[in-house]
Amino acid sequence: MPHVTLHHGVQMPLLGFGVFQIPDDQTQQAVESALEAGYRLIDTAAAYENERAVGRAIAASGIPRDELFVTTKLWVQDYGQDSAARAFDRSLDRLGLDHLDLYLIHQPFGDYYGAWRAMEDLNRDGRTRAIGVSNFYPDRLADLISHNEIVPAVNQIETHVFFQRTDDHRLMREYGVQHESWGPLSQGGRGFFDNPVLADIARAHGRTIAQIALRWLVQQEIVVIPKSVRPDRMAENLDIFDFRLTEDDLARIADLDTGRSQVFDHHDPAAVRQLGGVRFDT
Ligand code: NAD
Repeated sequence: MPHVTLHHGVQMPLLGFGVFQIPDDQTQQAVESALEAGYRLIDTAAAYENERAVGRAIAASGIPRDELFVTTKLWVQDYGQDSAARAFDRSLDRLGLDHLDLYLIHQPFGDYYGAWRAMEDLNRDGRTRAIGVSNFYPDRLADLISHNEIVPAVNQIETHVFFQRTDDHRLMREYGVQHESWGPLSQGGRGFFDNPVLADIARAHGRTIAQIALRWLVQQEIVVIPKSVRPDRMAENLDIFDFRLTEDDLARIADLDTGRSQVFDHHDPAAVRQLGGVRFDT
């Protein structure tokens, strides 16, 4: 498995396994299957309400802790310096771990500055090897970086063939922030699995559409965390490191960019109100 090096030297697998929307009672089995298939990066969040099941799968796997890369995320209701520190302890406890590899601010709403200061302390104390953010558009990322000490190691943002984020990518490169994609398969939306351009490229390489879309991301050194509860698809999604997309493939895929999210617009006040107001059992 290829790795990327985060700006302070931590190695992160280029491909991992996401567990968003996997129900708690299926998560342990799914993560155990993913670890068996060879995944070593697991991406969860307090808001997914399945950290305990992820922890059980990790414990059951017997895989040495230092071979795993575990990410979780802090939800909006727990922002602010003191509550963020307490929420971190609760996440770690649910995961059954004594440290994290990556802790992310899940959304750029509310008192994420206070949360970031708590995360800087957690990082300095070695309780999480890296800290980062998620869903930060370029303006918020630049602002956070300009007024704090530690530069986020990672920004996890919606990125796929229909929402390519090339400007975001360029800015993150400038700052040394690792780009991580969520929804790498466009969550199956916008006719992703029937797209004729992707189907044509897939045929030419003897691959599947999922593999082409994931390859397109990792070929740009963007970390991917596709999700599937099916072991055959887990294996398929891992099997992308022995071919390359050509310049012609890349040009055709570039034309698929719509420049818009297919999930929610972080600049829409209604979405900000709605997302910022959601409460989870964290
Ligand atoms: P995804 O793009 O990974 O798509 C998942 C869908 O594709 C599922 O319906 C799955 O059944 C299907 N699928 C997976 N592999 C397939 C294959 N080979 N062939 C056919 N179908 C296949 O969407 P996602 O789960 O939303 O994103 C991946 C991960 O990103 C999440 O699990 C989560 O960890 C993370 N995420 C983060 C945020 C955030 O706000 N930070 C938001 C959404 C997701």
